[in-house]
Amino acid sequence: MNASTSSPSQQLQQAINSTIDKECAVCYSEMILPTTIPSCGHKFCFICLKGVSVSNNGDCPICRGPIDSQIFKKPLQAVDLKMDIPGTPSAAAPDPVVKQEVDDEDVKPDVKKLQEELKKQQAAAAAQKMFWLYRGRHQGWWRFDPRIEKEIEEAFTHQMPMTEVTICGNPYIVDFSQMCQYPKNQSNYSRNVKRVNSTDFDSLNVKGMSGVFVATTSPPAAAN
Ligand SMILES: [Zn+2]
Ligand SMILES: [Zn+2]
Repeated sequence: MNASTSSPSQQLQQAINSTIDKECAVCYSEMILPTTIPSCGHKFCFICLKGVSVSNNGDCPICRGPIDSQIFKKPLQAVDLKMDIPGTPSAAAPDPVVKQEVDDEDVKPDVKKLQEELKKQQAAAAAQKMFWLYRGRHQGWWRFDPRIEKEIEEAFTHQMPMTEVTICGNPYIVDFSQMCQYPKNQSNYSRNVKRVNSTDFDSLNVKGMSGVFVATTSPPAAAN
């Protein structure tokens, strides 16, 4: 008999529950900046919940309970400000290291050397990752939500003149010739945007992500 007390079906249910726990009922993806409605305890991505509160009579999408608008005022979360899109393989992950051909069977591949090479490749890939930022109303910069950032980067690398993204339920235009964004049909509410690599990111005052102040948990940059 298996020492485990839970049956395979129970284990499966637990696995499903833990996935559901992380999934947002608005975008059906793993939550980014999970935000809880205090009165009912239901949890969604910050920008999904903010979008719903604007467009859905301000009701919880699951139980139709009220959403306290206070949770959108100066929200603060502790996350990695340079996080990748959760639930997907890291965009910075390099191709696997090609195994060295060894002629003599007695000679073992130099594991240490391979590990060092892998580390180098990972650092190079991380340095190449580009981030998209938009100007804060008064000062500093915000990082776009990683999923929106990916849409913008794809449009940019396909050399489109501009792209439309949905932020908190509202359509926005990101204009690459002017490097600005504005609500669709409201070009007078324009804000600057910036495309930066990891090093430039660190040199700027980035306050957080999509309007959520971030108490960063990212490790300090390694010294050169
Ligand atoms: Zn969501
Ligand atoms: Zn609810």
